[in-house]
Amino acid sequence: MSGQADEHERTMAFAEIALGQIKALRQPAIPRNYEIWYAYATGYHPSLNQKINETLTNNGTLTEPDLDEIYVAYLSPAHLTDRIDSVGSKVKDEIEQVMAMIDAAAGSASTYTESLAGMSEKIGQSKDREGLRAIVESLVQTTKEMEASNQRLEERLSASKAEINVLQENLEAVRTESLTDPLTQLANRKFFDITLEAAIMDATRNNEPLSLLLTDIDYFKKFNDSYGHLTGDQVLRLVAMSVKQNVKGQDTAARYGGEEFAIILPNTVLRSAITVADHIRRAVMTKELMKRSTGEHLGRVTVSIGVATLRKGDSPQTLIERTDACLYAAKRHGRNRVMCETDPEVSAPVAAMQVA
Ligand code: GH3
Ligand code: MG
Ligand code: MG
Repeated sequence: MSGQADEHERTMAFAEIALGQIKALRQPAIPRNYEIWYAYATGYHPSLNQKINETLTNNGTLTEPDLDEIYVAYLSPAHLTDRIDSVGSKVKDEIEQVMAMIDAAAGSASTYTESLAGMSEKIGQSKDREGLRAIVESLVQTTKEMEASNQRLEERLSASKAEINVLQENLEAVRTESLTDPLTQLANRKFFDITLEAAIMDATRNNEPLSLLLTDIDYFKKFNDSYGHLTGDQVLRLVAMSVKQNVKGQDTAARYGGEEFAIILPNTVLRSAITVADHIRRAVMTKELMKRSTGEHLGRVTVSIGVATLRKGDSPQTLIERTDACLYAAKRHGRNRVMCETDPEVSAPVAAMQVA
């Protein structure tokens, strides 16, 4: 099937689910509702699906206000950019308010200093006790005012600190979302690109090893053609999980492309990287796949993995190219295998391999 026909089948499947939900819940088939249910069908917004499932479990239906809220929170055209703008403008407001408070405090401090100077002059001129008492009373009063103003400033600053912490968390959530692949919840390509560049710099500076894995699902097109893209998407999630379960804290697992995953392994020599790759390969091939909705057995999928390690003078691109060459050698040699750049097959000419 051509890529276009593939895409047609895939999107029609989502469309059918979306319309099915609208019918089942007897909602108006307006674009907004269709968009919500289409997004639900793709599963690309796990938090949207979670919100819908929770609301349905609790209330049995989705009301107009529920749909409005879901649309604004997860789908309205530029919701990420809107959220970034809104956090940005709140930070600006907060800073302006704090600056105004600081200006006011600086003003009242200088008034206080002036009034202290004035009173010290009066004390010098004052001849009697009554005069002194009046000066001291006025001093106490001015000091009290100053204290109150300081207290207000302190309270305002501590409220600002709390508000800024919340804004920082919001910003972090937006950032994470913009760097996460919605289907698999792994890092997305953008995050991978940023991380690989930084990892190469770190490894070079600290003279540490760094390895890269590229994983591609075998015959995935055939799987999609046999069982449909929605099931294919579930398998992608499952493979992503196998990848995630076999990497450690400092490693980065990313969805590199459609059914390809890339794993950056800092501080890891080639041999250890091959071990990680083999764990992933075995984890995937041992999973018996079953369609949750029907219980139908779908067999298994396998992955091929290319492994390469950083060399002096490598750029992200040269490292990726070498890893990719290993991946394709693994494909040529029968798939469901790990190949690394020291394997003689990797550099062997394709024609010779086919004869062999
Ligand atoms: P090979 O063993 O050589 O890798 O064969 P293949 O069929 O996996 O490779 P090919 O690159 O020809 O096809 C990749 C297929 O992966 C095409 C498409 O059907 C599927 N695919 C890519 N992205 C997605 C996705 O997001 N969801 C689903 N369900 N399938 C996808
Ligand atoms: Mg591929
Ligand atoms: Mg493939």
